[in-house]
Amino acid sequence: MSSTINSIINREILISVDHVSRYYGDDCAVNDVSFSVHRGEVLGFLGPNGAGKSTTMQMICGVLSASAGHIKVAGHDMLESPRAAKQHIGFLPEQPPLYQDLNVNEYLYYAARLRGIKKAELKKAVAYSKQRCGLEETGKRLIKNLSKGFQQRVGIAQAIIHSPAVVIMDEPTSGLDPNQILEIRELIRELGNDHSVILSTHILPEVQSVCDRVLIINEGNLVLDESLDKLQRDHQIMPLKIALRQPPPLKTLGEIEGVVNIEQTGNHHFKIYCESGIDTINRITKLAVASEWELYEIIPEQDSLEETFVQLTRGENPE
Ligand code: ADP
Repeated sequence: MSSTINSIINREILISVDHVSRYYGDDCAVNDVSFSVHRGEVLGFLGPNGAGKSTTMQMICGVLSASAGHIKVAGHDMLESPRAAKQHIGFLPEQPPLYQDLNVNEYLYYAARLRGIKKAELKKAVAYSKQRCGLEETGKRLIKNLSKGFQQRVGIAQAIIHSPAVVIMDEPTSGLDPNQILEIRELIRELGNDHSVILSTHILPEVQSVCDRVLIINEGNLVLDESLDKLQRDHQIMPLKIALRQPPPLKTLGEIEGVVNIEQTGNHHFKIYCESGIDTINRITKLAVASEWELYEIIPEQDSLEETFVQLTRGENPE
């Protein structure tokens, strides 16, 4: 993973947000925020409600202007060359702008024409976005008759119809069922190979499963800009809740390699502070089986991203 991050860092910068602020009247919604997004990177944008996520995304899309600072998309300044900058962005709002009474083909041709794609290129553009989003079989279906997951695919297809360098998605899995969520996450990961993706979400496991890097914004300030890889490495100690029907003496548990500290929380329940990583968990489970301690529960108590989020946003609940 760290080699992936290094190769991303060496790639071209597609979005640069440079000391950007946005005021609504006297209220500062986004305060002096700077970050960049590289080609091939999937960036998770997190923050509690009212933190400034939508405002920042709308400024990147050119829908809102910044009160101060500069935004460049694929090298084009959003203020000086807004048309060129916007041409490189695809946007999927939380409520995709779908026309329920059109079929998928009609809608995507319409979206392509709105994006200024030349007549001769329309067919290719529609075929490409349908193929990327797994919509090859649904061209003639009315959008209103599609499942919510497929409607979301259509929303993503319109966002990539003009092959933008950057795809911005606002809560792309909200309202989907668990299977649809997995499918859309897989699609986002695939898009991340060719495009840069910014994903606004409040679902922390989503960030962990699809993003390379995470930004956390709180009260308009950027409080974290870190690769997920480094976040995991920095949080070396992981609390683990375990339950054993036939527990050994505490001392025996404390002697397991990788265990730093241990608390007994009930007759059969223990909290083990151990070096993070799958190795320690494997060691504990293997030993428990070999020693017949009858392990019936093992739960990592809080993961590094959740812990960081809660600390940086002062106890606000991400949900
Ligand atoms: P988030 O997307 O993280 O929930 P927003 O960017 O929507 O946050 O909002 C950031 C702050 O700006 C909030 O305090 C919100 O009330 C305020 N805000 C957002 N839009 C407007 C607006 N159109 N007029 C005035 N204040 C706004």
